Amino acid sequence: MKKQLFDWMQKNEEIFSHMAKQIWDKPQLGYEETFASSLQQDFLKKEGFDIVTPIDDVQTAFYAQWGSGSPIIGFLGEFDALPGLSQQVSSLYSPVEEGAPGHGCGHNLLGTAGVEAVVALKEVMKLNNLQGTIRYYGCPAEELLSGKSYMARAGVFDDLDIVYTWHPFTFNMTANFSMQALTAIEFYFSGRTAHAAGAPHLGRSALDAVELTNVGANYLREHVPDGSRIHYQITNGGLAPNIVPDKASVYYYLRGANRDAVKDLERRLIKVAKGAAMMTETEVHWELKAGCYDTLPNLTLNEQMLAAWDDLPPLSFTEDELTFAKSLQASLDSSVLAGTAQQSFVPNEISKEVLVEQVLHFPQTFRQSMQGSSDLGDVSWIAPLGQVFTTCAPYGVQVHTWQATAAFGSSLGMKGMHYAAKAMAGAALNSLLDPEVIKKAKEEFVKLRAGKLYECGIPEEVKAPSTVLG
Ligand SMILES: [Zn+2]
Repeated sequence: MKKQLFDWMQKNEEIFSHMAKQIWDKPQLGYEETFASSLQQDFLKKEGFDIVTPIDDVQTAFYAQWGSGSPIIGFLGEFDALPGLSQQVSSLYSPVEEGAPGHGCGHNLLGTAGVEAVVALKEVMKLNNLQGTIRYYGCPAEELLSGKSYMARAGVFDDLDIVYTWHPFTFNMTANFSMQALTAIEFYFSGRTAHAAGAPHLGRSALDAVELTNVGANYLREHVPDGSRIHYQITNGGLAPNIVPDKASVYYYLRGANRDAVKDLERRLIKVAKGAAMMTETEVHWELKAGCYDTLPNLTLNEQMLAAWDDLPPLSFTEDELTFAKSLQASLDSSVLAGTAQQSFVPNEISKEVLVEQVLHFPQTFRQSMQGSSDLGDVSWIAPLGQVFTTCAPYGVQVHTWQATAAFGSSLGMKGMHYAAKAMAGAALNSLLDPEVIKKAKEEFVKLRAGKLYECGIPEEVKAPSTVLG
């Protein structure tokens, strides 16, 4: 059956490369991914899947289901792009459209591999009369770190037995580590305008409150747990220097090892903002925009994905691909290349490579955190989650850069995508055939969760940003 699966996938690669390229060609930001979402919904409908859009206002969020009964196996996909990262498939900086979005995180590949895996698995299940339910989740707005949280709040992951996903990267590995929990919170201050020269004593500056909040936050940094991250952006700084700003706002990301740690940062930052409002005689209110969990890796499922790769020839790139990759790597500042090796999860042994073809094996105990967050964390607290990373770009290329956009639109990205799809589909097939896998994955999951249950970080009263599918 595994041979049937991989043969089918080998034969049909072009369909999915084409889908990923179409999405790459039409990058859309979070909650606006109407093109990618409807493309995948239509395709899966034609393949015999039932489509469900579980959140009324968010039409880009969906899942596609096939089969019946248990187990229920999910595949997570994403398809949102990033602002300002438009770039052609070129090793020279050349945006398709200056300032436009681009797929610098490779979510054009991420979602499509899930579609590839689920359709391939359906073919094999049909041929062999295998029982079970398979689902592809089209998840919006990962870059806003909230799409999956809203879906989780709607309960769509609750009945999953296990779930698989992946992410485009610069080497092949399983995600035997966690990512950080996060809170995204925006503070809005209101004061009173006045002529900044003529009557400054009559004004109450909302911008002063923003600045004092930032000063407070910067003092807070020394007294937070190691590994915490606090970053902010002033989203409104007033209208003109000669008007005391009556409105100003600042948007914060808070990251920490787990949900509780981040909630504590949140509690302390709210105090800082309230203090700033008191000092400036302004008023403050805030909005929680994301509240995602740290990711719980599932080593049982990760091992299954490694085993799937063991049955396949290694990922390999052509001379032309290597040439392109070399020139893309050469476009990086030498400090970026040197700095890559200093990231905690990057093994030294690959620091001289351009395209990493081999699979890197990490010790089972490798559970340190990768700095950064994903709304994937929410799902990993609801069901056991297996995740791999694959080589879709040259070593040293960082996601969220123009070089990454270039690689993820090229055949480098496509190859990595098919490799990831095979890991997910192969592992899922194994889990369908051997109930022990799911049992063991669940035991590990329960142990790791240590009695804590998932509780969505976004309160019920916060509505998801709406999208219209068209
Ligand atoms: Zn991403």
